[in-house]
Amino acid sequence: MKKHNFSAGPSILPQEVLLKASEAIMDLENSGLSLIEISHRSKAFVDIMENARALALELLGLEGKGYKALFLQGGASTQFLMVALNLLEKRAGYLNTGAWSQKAIKEAQKLDDIYEVASSENANFNYIPKGYDIPSDYDYFHCTSNNTIFGTQIKQFPKCDIPMVCDMSSDIFSRSLDFSQFDLIYAGAQKNMGPAGTTLVVIKEDILGKVSRDIPSIMDYKIHIKQGSMFNTPPVFAVYTSMLTLEWLKGLGGIAGIEKENEKKARLMYSEIDLNPLFKGFAAKEDRSNMNATFNLVNDNLKDTFETMLKEAGISGVNGHRSVGGYRASMYNALPLDSVKALVEVMSELESKA
Ligand SMILES: *Cc1c(COP(=O)(O)O)cnc(C)c1O
Repeated sequence: MKKHNFSAGPSILPQEVLLKASEAIMDLENSGLSLIEISHRSKAFVDIMENARALALELLGLEGKGYKALFLQGGASTQFLMVALNLLEKRAGYLNTGAWSQKAIKEAQKLDDIYEVASSENANFNYIPKGYDIPSDYDYFHCTSNNTIFGTQIKQFPKCDIPMVCDMSSDIFSRSLDFSQFDLIYAGAQKNMGPAGTTLVVIKEDILGKVSRDIPSIMDYKIHIKQGSMFNTPPVFAVYTSMLTLEWLKGLGGIAGIEKENEKKARLMYSEIDLNPLFKGFAAKEDRSNMNATFNLVNDNLKDTFETMLKEAGISGVNGHRSVGGYRASMYNALPLDSVKALVEVMSELESKA
């Protein structure tokens, strides 16, 4: 039986996407060849790559606005360094909202001075700092839209006169935003878009070419753009499956369509966390993530009972990250509302038992 999959990443994909992807492994669109045994330079795969790139821009509302979409390798973690190699000349400002922000800062610091514009480390990252200034003479500002581990999400992005770079690994394509306020967006596929192995990078082209360093070819966005995201062999399965997910999303009415579902799921989840006296939410209410809900049991004595009940209900992947503890329900685009209902039912059943 299919489980209710709340995994934080790699995470749930739509069933129909899994089915189509598995068919393509055996026979890509009746070609008599497998997706993973054809040349990436074949027309069949070049079309897949172009379709995936175009769909990403279309869904984000960034077509014809000077942006390019790339499907790269090395995960979002490679982007921590690649962003700095391509954009950092003198100084950059970083918003520190948790573990992923800190890793991005650490990599950029290998190249130059980084200024932390604000941090919520004083409260174990349970909120999003607000009201900070971003110096207008810096090369760029970097933030993390959704903090997967802590369950916080930026609801209002700052006004920013310099290029704004955003790690959207865990909430890309989940909510309507004016994506043109960002100059560079990156996201590892494995949370809301596809299997692990590729990273979507969306760049406004005119921010490139301004640093003096000689950028290694494979780290150079300009080279990847010029080569149509085929500088080297791309991860064909991850790109194809991401394309299928983007097609699925388009069929549901795009981001605006899925956003309504995501809001329903988050409302249901958080109302249970707030109303059930056995549980306590981790993140500050106004900054709660619609993707990752973090919460704890008030009384740890109930841990074994709760976890046995979760298991019996077929609920998988709700253990919290070691730096926060407790539980984390990841409610990415492909997670059905029914899965959240199943989890909430177990929580209220625990209350009636206790
Ligand atoms: C998972 C995650 C990453 C790391 O992604 P990799 O693809 O494993 O490098 C970076 N940032 C955020 C916000 C994440 O959730």
